[in-house]
Amino acid sequence: MAEKKIAIYRFMSAGCNGCDVQIFECLVPRYKLGDLGVEIVFTPEEANVLAVTGSINVKGAEELKMAYKKLKPPKIVVAVGNCATTKGIFSEGYPIVGPPDRIVPVNLYIPGCPPRPQAIVSAIAKALGVSLDKKEDYWGTPEGFRGKHEFDAEKCIGCGACAQVCSSDAIEIIDEDDKRLVKINYARCTFCGFCQDECPTQAIRLTKEYHLSTDNKKTAYVMNEVEMLRCRICGSYYVPSEQIRWAVERIMEKAAVYRDLRKELEDAMQICPECRRKIVNVENAKKLLTSLAIKTRVS
Ligand code: SF4
Ligand code: SF4
Repeated sequence: MAEKKIAIYRFMSAGCNGCDVQIFECLVPRYKLGDLGVEIVFTPEEANVLAVTGSINVKGAEELKMAYKKLKPPKIVVAVGNCATTKGIFSEGYPIVGPPDRIVPVNLYIPGCPPRPQAIVSAIAKALGVSLDKKEDYWGTPEGFRGKHEFDAEKCIGCGACAQVCSSDAIEIIDEDDKRLVKINYARCTFCGFCQDECPTQAIRLTKEYHLSTDNKKTAYVMNEVEMLRCRICGSYYVPSEQIRWAVERIMEKAAVYRDLRKELEDAMQICPECRRKIVNVENAKKLLTSLAIKTRVS
C-alpha cells in the first residue's frame, strides 16, 4: 500500500474552520486515525492525500493548483465538508471561484457541516482501501444529532414549505408537468432542522446517518416525488394533488361551518389561481355592467 499521509490544505479558502477542527479531532486516540498509518503533515510535498476544506477563492485557487502539483503519487484529493463539495453557504460570495473540483480532480467528497470525525476517518479508510472495525462503539451519535434526511413518502404532500425555510438553499422544488420533485441536496445542508420543524405533515426527518462520503457528488441527495393536479378549466398542472386533499381535510377539521360545502370547496380548489382570477374578473365585470345598466335606466 502507498504511504498514507494527509496534507491539510486550508489557505485563503472560504469556510469557518469547522471542518479543519474535525480533521484534527481525528487525531485523538479515540478515532484511531494513526492506526490506519495516517499522519497529518503541513506541506504537500510530504503527502499523497490532500484534504481540502472550504470553498476556493481567487487566491486560494493558485495555491491549490500548486499543492496538487507537489503531491506525491498516487494523488488523492478528498473534499472535506459542504463548502469543499458544493461551495455550501459561500456559493454567492464574490471572490469564490468554486469548490475544489473546479480547480483540481477530486476523488472523494465528505459532505457534512462539518462532517463528524468518524465520517472523515471512514472515508479516508475507504480512499486508502483500508477496512475498519465496524463493531467499535465510537460509531454512535450523541442525543439530538441531526444527519441525512429521510422522507416519509406517504406523508409528503409536496407543499414546498421545507424549501421556503431552508437557509442554505439545499431544497429544490422541481415541477415537471404531472409530478413535483422535492430534492434535498445534503451536501449543501447545514442540518439546522428547520425543514423538519416546518413540515406540516412530519414527512421529513433528519436521521442519525452521517456516513455521507461519495465519489460522485451528484448522488448526494434525497428526493421525494408527488403527483400534480390538473386545473379543471385550463388543464395545466398547478398544485400537488395531496396538498389539496390535505388542505380540504384541515378545513373540515378546523371549520365546522364549511362541512356542508365540502363538494363545492373541493371543486373550487381544483381550479388554478390564474383561472380563478379570470372567473372573478368576469364576475366583477358582470356586476359592474349590471350596476351601470341599472343606473342608466334610473337616470
Ligand atoms: S417534506 Fe413536508 S414541507 Fe417538504 S414538501 Fe413534503 S410535506 Fe411539504
Ligand atoms: S436541515 Fe433542512 S432547512 Fe436546514 S439546511 Fe438542511 S435542508 Fe435546509
